[in-house]
Amino acid sequence: MNARATNPLDFFQVRELLSDEERLVQDTVARFVDARAIPLMRECFEQHRFPKELIPEIAELGLLGPSIEGYGCAGMNAISSGLICQELERGDSGLRSFASVQSSLVMFPIHHFGSEAQREKYLPRMARGELIGCFGLTEAQGGSDPGAMRTRAVRRGDEWILNGSKMWITNGNIAGVCVCWAMTDEGIRGFLVDTDTPGFKAQEIENKFSLRASITSALFFDDVRVPDSQRLPGAAGLKGPLSCLTQARYGIAWGAVGAAQACLAEVLEYTGERVMFGRPLAGTQMIQVRLADMARRITSAQLLALQLGKLKDRGVMDPAQVSLAKWNNCRMALDIARDCRDMLGGAGISAEHGAIRHMLNLESVITYEGTETVHQLAVGRALTGLNAF
Ligand SMILES: Cc1cc2nc3c(=O)[nH]c(=O)nc-3n(C[C@H](O)[C@H](O)[C@H](O)COP(=O)(O)OP(=O)(O)OC[C@H]3O[C@@H](n4cnc5c(N)ncnc54)[C@H](O)[C@@H]3O)c2cc1C
Repeated sequence: MNARATNPLDFFQVRELLSDEERLVQDTVARFVDARAIPLMRECFEQHRFPKELIPEIAELGLLGPSIEGYGCAGMNAISSGLICQELERGDSGLRSFASVQSSLVMFPIHHFGSEAQREKYLPRMARGELIGCFGLTEAQGGSDPGAMRTRAVRRGDEWILNGSKMWITNGNIAGVCVCWAMTDEGIRGFLVDTDTPGFKAQEIENKFSLRASITSALFFDDVRVPDSQRLPGAAGLKGPLSCLTQARYGIAWGAVGAAQACLAEVLEYTGERVMFGRPLAGTQMIQVRLADMARRITSAQLLALQLGKLKDRGVMDPAQVSLAKWNNCRMALDIARDCRDMLGGAGISAEHGAIRHMLNLESVITYEGTETVHQLAVGRALTGLNAF
């Protein structure tokens, strides 16, 4: 037998490019995911439930709002935040979705667009995991064109009255606060709606085949009154929600690497042990070509995510670069998960193996936060200067 790669999941020793602190963050989250999350995820997926019991530990590790400075947050750099997503999604995309929404879609806009009073009111509790947030942008008539939203906020003196509905909202039923994006006479504005406000209702979407270990909801706003002090003062127009999505898509680009690594690890073990025609499956040329292709694609995705993180830390990351990374890495992970499912044969359709769970999850991950087509068009626009949407 010949020598194997030192770490088949890190074929190019990308970890060498990380700082000591970044490696520490990765190892800490990896230990939590291995010990606490992975043993739970299969059961949660089968039972269609989010593992709420993990929230205190996730918060204790500083994984909520990790890149925010102050307000009880950890103040990590972009690469560490990316590694958090990678490790969480190695466990399950639902776990990473929970953390992404809390950190990038709710804590980020409060920190970036909010008043000092809003930051003080929400961020420390959100960092401790005592308050969960959700982000209401998508509506039933179409998520790819959020500018066509029908939810309206009308000003009455010092108050706003919100009417409308949102669809496919992660964390909706466990959220204490919703960042609701609504059309006003001056364009799109963001409102912090405490979910105990009269007229607000969240209804969980049942029977999903994907992200079953994540909560997804429809939200209804029926004459919901919020004071002007709950409007995000720094957000005006579509660039408000889009800049939140850029943060979350950055995390997804890293997270998808984790899901693909989990699938490759599983299939390496399985094909190494499963004997067919007198030799292990892993000893056949076709299986090796498929495994080699996975290592190639994971390596490219790792390097793409890392360079994106470096650009983000330097403050020069462009949304079109994020689009390319989200598109590439989700496509890579979904293709790998599907191929791993196939290489497990009949066993691949059983929940005993992770590949089908990751595969089904990734169908959502490639769709939400901008579908693959939306990101391809964003890259096309950056290349040509022409808007083809
Ligand atoms: C599990 C899950 C969780 C989610 N969580 C959230 C959340 O927390 N908050 C939130 O606001 N939203 C959330 N979403 C919504 C998500 O962002 C949308 O589903 C997504 O943006 C796509 O919108 P849509 O479903 O309306 O599809 P549509 O926009 O109707 O798209 C349908 C198809 O048309 C294609 N298409 C669209 N425009 C074009 C075009 N110009 N040219 C060619 N093809 C095009 C799309 O690529 C897609 O294939 C979530 C979705 C899911 C599935």
